[in-house]
Amino acid sequence: MVEKMTTLEKLKKYLEKIKEKDKDLNIFLEVRPESELIDEAKRIDEKIKDGKAGRLAGYVIGVKPNINVVGFHASCSSKVLEDYKSTYDATVIKKIKEEDGLIIGMVNSDEFACGSSGETSAYGPVKNPVNPELIPGGSSSGSAACIAAGFCDMALGSDTGGSIRNPASHCGVVGIKPTYASVSRHGLIDLSMSFDQIGPIAKNVHDATLLLDVIRGKDENDSISLESGKLNLKELGKKKKFKIGILDFKIQDERIQKLIDEKVKEISKKYGWNVKKVRIEYIDTAIETYYPIVYTEFFSATRKFDGRKYGKKIEDSCGPEVLRRVLGGAEITRSEHEGRNYYLALRVRKLIEEEYARAFKEMDIIISPTVPRLPHKIGEKITIEEMYSYDALTIPSNLAGNCSMSVPVGKVDGIPVGMQIMADKFQEQKMLEVGALVEGFGERR
Ligand code: GLN
Repeated sequence: MVEKMTTLEKLKKYLEKIKEKDKDLNIFLEVRPESELIDEAKRIDEKIKDGKAGRLAGYVIGVKPNINVVGFHASCSSKVLEDYKSTYDATVIKKIKEEDGLIIGMVNSDEFACGSSGETSAYGPVKNPVNPELIPGGSSSGSAACIAAGFCDMALGSDTGGSIRNPASHCGVVGIKPTYASVSRHGLIDLSMSFDQIGPIAKNVHDATLLLDVIRGKDENDSISLESGKLNLKELGKKKKFKIGILDFKIQDERIQKLIDEKVKEISKKYGWNVKKVRIEYIDTAIETYYPIVYTEFFSATRKFDGRKYGKKIEDSCGPEVLRRVLGGAEITRSEHEGRNYYLALRVRKLIEEEYARAFKEMDIIISPTVPRLPHKIGEKITIEEMYSYDALTIPSNLAGNCSMSVPVGKVDGIPVGMQIMADKFQEQKMLEVGALVEGFGERR
């Protein structure tokens, strides 16, 4: 159970804050009608009183708009789907409702989850609550910002190449990308189906773990989803030994690397962790490997947006980043290329996956910065290559299909910096235990 406040009291506090601050921050696209929210909060409080409440009772939750929630718009922050209202709940939403989580509304994001800054939304950029001049990161910009702004307790984001971890890092909150296929994608509007995973963003590792535990597991509506067992929240914060690899990868901003290195030094001394450097071959090609696959899969996924059944024709109504990917995907898949670039990318992806599998035979965890650079100012012109470079350290985990998370570890120039903690496929428990120790969870109890 969270804090001492009732669900209703907490909801009212959040609604007030949203009214006061969200005109400026631009985080919510849609807040559920107040009367409905209040009725539901009262119902949840009754259940708590009767001892019949689910595990998410008392938690207020925001949702990225590429996830279907019945009655809400799943616009993907795009004009293409601006009038599209969900007729069904995604599996993750069904599970949240079964555990009495209170969904407050849909938050802003990059258009169709394409972006790293939160600026590609058709509804204007989200501001970083820590410093409103800066981008909050993306593409789950609103999902991280709504936590940092104190608008709700938890949020759902989606991560294809870093979109949960990247904004979590820039906003100073916790974000988890689960192992591929451990969380159902039923009801998630695709960016790139062989990478996409829904995951939680929250104030701390405990809350993020709780939400992850609720949403993951096999789903008959997602045939590739796999059972992954229960997470044990009681183990979080317990002093344990781990074998840690520090990723040997040079990033431009040395201040970020220094902060991460110092934190690892401090924690490993305290808990007796065994630390050594680890090299992962080919990760310097991660961005070039990722994009041909994303363009191809996105092109395929968007063929249904032809203006007949769902919303408007995508090529006519989307923004420049989405159009780049649609046209790029059309080019890559032209028959005269015989799939050359696509298959080459798949081969390198396999090599990177094998590199991680090898590394995780020797160690439990691989640590690096989450994002290699600090966020730019909203509206600042940066090149496409610079924009794509934000994800240099997060994309490898999607290529390998393993799990990773971002935990805030301090600030550079007053801007939050996240540590990326990565573990082998389905080793979330281990990753979360390390995350909780890095966060200082043990001491807070
Ligand atoms: N920034 C990356 C991209 O634009 C990642 C997006 C994501 O994870 N949804 O593809």
